[in-house]
Formats: sequence, structure tokens, C-alpha cells
Amino acid sequence: MSLPHFEYFAPRTIEEAVALLAGAGGRARPFAGGTDLLPRLQSGLVRAETLVDLKRIPELCAIGFDPASGLTIGAAVRLADLLDSPDVQRRYPAMTDAVSQTATVQIRNMGTIAGNVCNGSPCADSVPVLIARLAHLALMSPRGERLLPIGDFFKGPGETALEPDELLVRIHVPPPPPYTGFAFAKLPARTASDISAVNVGVMVARQGGVCGEARIVLGAVGPVPLRAHQAELRLAGATLGARLLEEVGRLAASETRPIDDLRASAAYRRDMAAVLVRRALVVAATRAGLAVADAAPAGDATGASE
Ligand SMILES: Cc1cc2nc3c(=O)[nH]c(=O)nc-3n(C[C@H](O)[C@H](O)[C@H](O)COP(=O)(O)OP(=O)(O)OC[C@H]3O[C@@H](n4cnc5c(N)ncnc54)[C@H](O)[C@@H]3O)c2cc1C
Repeated sequence: MSLPHFEYFAPRTIEEAVALLAGAGGRARPFAGGTDLLPRLQSGLVRAETLVDLKRIPELCAIGFDPASGLTIGAAVRLADLLDSPDVQRRYPAMTDAVSQTATVQIRNMGTIAGNVCNGSPCADSVPVLIARLAHLALMSPRGERLLPIGDFFKGPGETALEPDELLVRIHVPPPPPYTGFAFAKLPARTASDISAVNVGVMVARQGGVCGEARIVLGAVGPVPLRAHQAELRLAGATLGARLLEEVGRLAASETRPIDDLRASAAYRRDMAAVLVRRALVVAATRAGLAVADAAPAGDATGASE
């Protein structure tokens, strides 16, 4: 099946890109790596008369780190660029883990983290850790720029808070807070490079010898990536042990709303959500410097790390 006809623009500035989107009256699409967009155009799932290529805009291709404000990721930064960034490797290893388990080398060499977010897929692998890290999205339109917490961005499968004339220009990830650990875990649907049947991003903060705040974010088990608030509350102030983490895993799973589909049944997703949450919490707690009594070693956490 061939691609439908469309006009292609490669602007050099953000302003030009925003003007092109606004001028098209909802019939234009930002084009980053195209790994999602082009197959969807080809199959007719998405229609666009105009594609606005973001890769020639230098500001969108930059990754920056500042100890006070954290990590800034331009919207045209490829998944492979993130993996190559020494700042990301050193300070945001759970992001490295999530991105390195996204798709294949070929897709990571084309696809962007912004495209992964804007796609609005409930199973996007970069999203749970970004939510656990309380990242913000800088969205630009002719009305100016707004900063949106990433947790408010997802509205339903393939639906986001983006207006048709809005462009995601940057992702802001706060600096790593002290005494915290983050972790990512993924159950791919079939082979290691597959889209997730379940994925998890967690954060554990150490407060003395106990867990302070915790965040648990699950993907592919609901219409949007979701927080397991009851499970998070169960961890706050708790001394961590294997039995508690089993309970927290089950609690988190009970907060999911999975469906049966080609990749996995709802029941399997729920069972595996409990397992991945427990394993990711062990890794995050270890990274935060918290001992977990009677837990399997962190290395046992399939796909879970930071
Ligand atoms: C074989 C294969 C395997 C895959 N495996 C995985 C996987 O394991 N995990 C996973 O999470 N994903 C996977 N994907 C999905 C995809 O590769 C990723 O989501 C990728 O990060 C998308 O980035 P992109 O730059 O290619 O986005 P594009 O295809 O360019 O864009 C995706 C959507 O976002 C919009 N968009 C892009 N950038 C912006 C912006 N700055 N502002 C506003 N809207 C924007 C586009 O208009 C489009 O609607 C896979 C895809 C393929 C083809």
C-alpha cells in the first residue's frame, strides 16, 4: 500500500513550524521520526494533507542538563540520542532502561521520545518513568507556550491534550531528587523488542530507614498510563519487606483497568502488573539506599532497573 499524497515542509524555526500547523486548520501533522505516523498514514488510520518535519529545527534537536532545572529534551531528539547522552546515562538511568527496551535499534535511530509521548499510546515505554519523574511538556502554539504536567497529557487511547495547532517543543525532567531511586520494568508482548503488554515506572524516596513518598505508574493496563495511588499510599512510611511488596504489587494490579487484546489477556496483564511493580520497587528501593528485607536480589528484576 503506498502513502497518500501530502505536502511536506521542513521549517528551520519553531515559529515557522507552529505557523504551518496553525495555517493548515487541523489538516497538518508534526512529523518527527515517522515510525508511528507513516505506517498510520499508509493504512489510513491517520489523515494529513501536510507534514511538518521537525528534524531541521536546531533547538528541537538539543538535550541539555542543568543541576537546578534538570534535563531538557528537544522534541526532535531521537531515542538513540538519549541513550548516547552522558547526562541521561549518569543521572536518569531508568529513562535509559525504558528507552533501550523500546523497539529495535533501527526504530530508535529514527523515532523520538516526543513522538512516543504525542502518539498517546497507553503502552508507550518512555511514559511511565516520565510520569514518575513528574516531567512537564512545553507546548507551543500561536497563543504562546504552556507547560503541562505529563500526567495531565493523556486523555484516552491515541488522545492527548494537544490542540491541533500545538507543537510539543521540549520535555522538562526535574533534577534527580536526593535519596530517591527510579526503576522501569516491561513485559514485551512476544519478543524482547515488542510493544509492551505491561510496563511500569516507579519512584521510591528514602526517609530515614523507611519509604517516604512513592510513585507507581503502569502502562498498557488502561486507556491511559495510570498511577496506582492506593499502592503508593500503602508504601508511605513503611518499612520495606518482601511480604509488603507482594501486597503492594497486588494492590497496584487491582487499580488497573486492562483489556483483552492480541497482545495479552486482561487477567494476564493484571497478574504481570503485580509482578513487575514488585520487582521494580525492589530495584528503586535499592537505588534509594533502602534495604528490602527478604527480597529477591535486585538483579532478579526482569527488565527493571535504575
Ligand atoms: C516495529 C515497531 C516497533 C515499535 N516498538 C515500540 C516499543 O517497543 N515501545 C514503544 O513505546 N513504541 C514502539 N513503537 C512505536 C514508535 O516507534 C515510538 O512511539 C516512537 O518513539 C515514535 O516516535 P516518532 O518520532 O517516530 O514519532 P512520529 O511517528 O513522527 O509521530 C508520532 C505521532 O506524534 C505526533 N508528533 C510527533 N512529534 C510531535 C511534536 N513534537 N508535537 C506534537 N505532535 C508530535 C505525530 O504527528 C504523530 O501523530 C514501535 C514502532 C514500530 C514501527
